[in-house]
Amino acid sequence: MSHNSNSLQIGLLPIETIRFCMRCGHSLELRQESERLRPVCPRCGWVYYFAPQVAAAAILTRGEDEKILLVQRGEDPGRGLWGLPGGFVELGETVPDALVREILEETGYEIQLGALLDVWSFFNDVKKLAGVALIYETRVMGGTLQIASDSIAAEWVSVERALQFPLAFETHREALMRWKNQWSKK
Ligand SMILES: [Zn+2]
Repeated sequence: MSHNSNSLQIGLLPIETIRFCMRCGHSLELRQESERLRPVCPRCGWVYYFAPQVAAAAILTRGEDEKILLVQRGEDPGRGLWGLPGGFVELGETVPDALVREILEETGYEIQLGALLDVWSFFNDVKKLAGVALIYETRVMGGTLQIASDSIAAEWVSVERALQFPLAFETHREALMRWKNQWSKK
C-alpha cells in the first residue's frame, strides 16, 4: 500500500476486468478518453471512470484516559491485523455521516467528531483499490463496546502501544504517529 501526497504511487488498476457496459450490457472497449485509457461502450458511449473511493477512519478516544480504540480486522485486506475503526463512504452520505455510521456498526459506540487529522491517498494492492482516507479525531459519546461482523476484537490502548500492534494499513500508522506528536504538544 502506498500513501501520502508526496510519495503517491498508484499501481495499475485492472481496467481490463471491467468488460461489460453497466448501462446497456454491451462489451466494452479500451479507448483513449479524457487523457487516459478507459473502458468505453461502443454502443451507448458510456465511459467507465475509475475514481478513488472515499474512506473515513477515526482516532477514537473515550475521555477518561488517553487510550484509543483499535479493532482487529475480520476481513481482507489485512484479516487478523489491527486498525482504526472506520469504513467507506456510501452514496448519499457525507464523510462525517459515514464515519458515525461505520463506528456504530463496527463498535457499538456513538461518537462525536472532532478535528480532521489529515487526508491520505492510498492504493490497496490486494483489492486493486485506489482510495482517499480522511482520518478524524473522535470521542465516544454513548453506547457500549459491541464488536460487529467485519471486526473480531477491539482493544483500548495507549497510542504508544497501538504503534506496536501489527497494523493493516500504513495510513493508520501515519495517523497514529501524527496524533501522538500533536498530543504530546498539547
Ligand atoms: Zn453501453
